Amino acid sequence: MTMFQNLHRSLGRGQTLKLQCEACDHRATLSAQEAAALCGADATPMDIRRRARCKACGVEGRVRVWI
Ligand SMILES: [Zn+2]
Repeated sequence: MTMFQNLHRSLGRGQTLKLQCEACDHRATLSAQEAAALCGADATPMDIRRRARCKACGVEGRVRVWI
């Protein structure tokens, strides 16, 4: 699990951003383009965590984020 500063600096072409819900363990994987489109290229892990909403159980702000 790698911590990172923001998407633009850390997520290169072909890399993916992984999200896991802390409530139900649902996992999602975003491509670099999808992550930037969703959160903005300068989003930090905390930004993404705050904004993310689990597609499985609907909980907000409780996801783990890593690359
Ligand atoms: Zn969930």
